[in-house]
Amino acid sequence: MSAKLSGIGMTSQRTRVRMVERLRSQGIKDEVVLDAMASVPRHIFVDEALATRAYEDCSLPIGFGQTISNPQTVARMTELLRGGRPLGKVLEIGTGCGYQTAVLARLAQEVYSVERIAPLLMKARGHLRELRAANIKVKHADGSIGLEELGPFDGIIMTAAATHVPEALLPQLAVGGRMVFPIGTGEQRLCLIEHTAEEYRQTTLEAVKFVPLLPGLA
Ligand code: SAH
Repeated sequence: MSAKLSGIGMTSQRTRVRMVERLRSQGIKDEVVLDAMASVPRHIFVDEALATRAYEDCSLPIGFGQTISNPQTVARMTELLRGGRPLGKVLEIGTGCGYQTAVLARLAQEVYSVERIAPLLMKARGHLRELRAANIKVKHADGSIGLEELGPFDGIIMTAAATHVPEALLPQLAVGGRMVFPIGTGEQRLCLIEHTAEEYRQTTLEAVKFVPLLPGLA
């Protein structure tokens, strides 16, 4: 790894290990998720001026009015998405800076990620290129309708808050697949949908705070 990738001081491997210890104390149990987060250099996904804060327990601005989620939220959603099983094909809606995408790429075979803000997607592409992950494809698209031609997916993760269950995405979820997303307008909560042989089973979980899912391209 290059020095920029591996980091020094507040962006070093030691800092990542400390972040993972904090995630454990916050209740994250899936070792596969924790390993992935210990290995992805989160500091390359934020502007250089913020790099030393990248591993703190907070969300940070990434430009265009958007934010990178705090590490705990990324870990929690990834743990829910995995549900303890290996993932084949995953769809992420809301690439943002690409950090969650990079974490997913460590534990899924293929990751497709869509973002509606073109210049943000360009930045994310740059960050992801540095990692040389061959199993990531990003696309400038409105994720609220998913990526029908590439489904079905074993996991769908949406990192922007929907006002209602995004019905268009359900048929793109494979049987046995899981979808995780924030839902709500005022108060938001995490929502897990499991596609079993019989039904789409919906569970509402803890309160969270995300930017809203918006229609169309920007
Ligand atoms: N996972 C990202 C979170 C970024 S914030 C990260 O770690 O950086 C959520 C992102 O969802 C924003 O970049 C926003 O532009 C994007 N978004 C909102 N509505 C969208 C839509 N309909 N389709 C695709 N992306 C969308």
